Amino acid sequence: MSAIMIDGKRVAAETRARAAEEAAQLIRRGVTPHLAVVLAGDNPASQTYVRNKERACHEAGFRSTILRLPADCTQAELEEAVLRLNADASVHGILVQLPLPAGLDAARVLALIDPDKDVDGFHAVNAGRLATGQPGFVPCTPLGVIALLDAYQIPIAGSRAVVIGRSNIVGKPMARLLLARDATVTMCHSGTRDLASVTREADILIAAVGRPGFVTPEMVKPGAAVIDVGISRTESGLAGDVAPQVAQVAGYLTPVPGGVGPMTVAMLLHNTLQAARRLAL
Ligand code: NAP
Repeated sequence: MSAIMIDGKRVAAETRARAAEEAAQLIRRGVTPHLAVVLAGDNPASQTYVRNKERACHEAGFRSTILRLPADCTQAELEEAVLRLNADASVHGILVQLPLPAGLDAARVLALIDPDKDVDGFHAVNAGRLATGQPGFVPCTPLGVIALLDAYQIPIAGSRAVVIGRSNIVGKPMARLLLARDATVTMCHSGTRDLASVTREADILIAAVGRPGFVTPEMVKPGAAVIDVGISRTESGLAGDVAPQVAQVAGYLTPVPGGVGPMTVAMLLHNTLQAARRLAL
C-alpha cells in the first residue's frame, strides 16, 4: 500500500482563489484588505518569505505594505513602527517577520500588536482565545493543517491525534485546534517516554519537530494520516520530519516541499480577510 499524497499546492491555490473572490467583494464595498509586514534586517530567508507574502497579497487583490528597518535599528524604533501600524485604520493585518536581528526582543514587540490585527495569531490574547474556545486569530500553519485534513475529508472528530512538538506557533495551537474539532489529542515533546508507542496509536499524526526523517515507519499506525510540518535545509535540499518510507505505511502523507508549506501563506490571506471584515464593516 502506498499513501495518498496530500497536494498542499492545489489546496493552497484553491484557498487563495477563494480569498481573491472574497477580497473582490470587500473592494466593491470600498474596503481593500491590507497586510503590513515589519521586516527588520536583511536575513535572506526572511526576505524570501516576505516577498512570497507580498506576491500572494497582490495576486489576491490585497494591499501589501512592507516596513523595512535596518538590522541595527533600536527596540524603540521597532516598537514605534508597530504602534504606527496599530493606529493606521487602513491596515487590517500586521505581522513582524521573525527571527529579529540579535539584540531585539521579539516577545515585547509581538505583545504590542493590536490583537485584532494580529494575523499571525502569536499574541497571548489570541492564544488565550484559542485555548478558551473564543473567536480570534489562529497561527497560520496549524490552521493550514486543518484545512488540508478537511480538503481530503479525513475525519477529525473521534479520532486519536498525536502532535509531536509543543511550540507556541505550531504544536500547541495544532493540538488545541484538533481538540476543538473533537479529536482525542496527545502532545509529545523531547521528554516523552517511548514516543513510538504513543505515535502508533494515532489516526492523525502531526510532526512538528524540525529533524529530518525523525518519524520512521515503525512509529506509524497502518493507514494513518501523517502530516509533516517540519522543514529543514539539508545538503540535498529541503527535508521534512517524516522519513520517505512512511509512505508505505500511512494512508495519507504530506510531501515536503508542497504539503503544509504552501498552506501557511494561504491561511495568512484568510486571516487578513477575517481582520478586514471585522475591522472595516
Ligand atoms: P521548535 O520551536 O524548535 O519546536 C520543536 C519541538 O519539537 C519542541 O517542542 C521539542 O520539544 C520537540 N522535539 C525536539 N526533539 C524531540 C524529540 N526527540 N522527541 C519529541 N519531540 C521533540 O520548532 P517549531 O517552530 O514548532 O517548528 C517545527 C518544525 O516545523 C521546524 O522544522 C520548522 O521549520 C517547521 N515549520 C514549518 C512551517 C511551515 O510553514 N510548513 C511553519 C512553522 C514551522 P521540547 O519542547 O521538549 O524542546
